[in-house]
Amino acid sequence: MVTTQHAIPRGSRADQPTWVWLMVLTAHRGLCVYCGKTATTLDHEEPVADNGADIWWNFIPACESCNRRKGKRTAKRWAADMR
Ligand SMILES: [Zn+2]
Repeated sequence: MVTTQHAIPRGSRADQPTWVWLMVLTAHRGLCVYCGKTATTLDHEEPVADNGADIWWNFIPACESCNRRKGKRTAKRWAADMR
């Protein structure tokens, strides 16, 4: 298991159990949803800081750099900001 404690953005409440990782990663073929590189972190689609749920369906795989750059924005908001 990859240890991601250091990479989990502020606002997340806990390390996610293995089954959450497996489900999220297999659903997205283990790739970062933003850039397509190998995902190393779980990102909240709706940030916890913005009342996003700390639950499996709110997670998407992301590589560390995308996760860090996205921060607390929602995936949609971030995509809009990149244009
Ligand atoms: Zn990425």
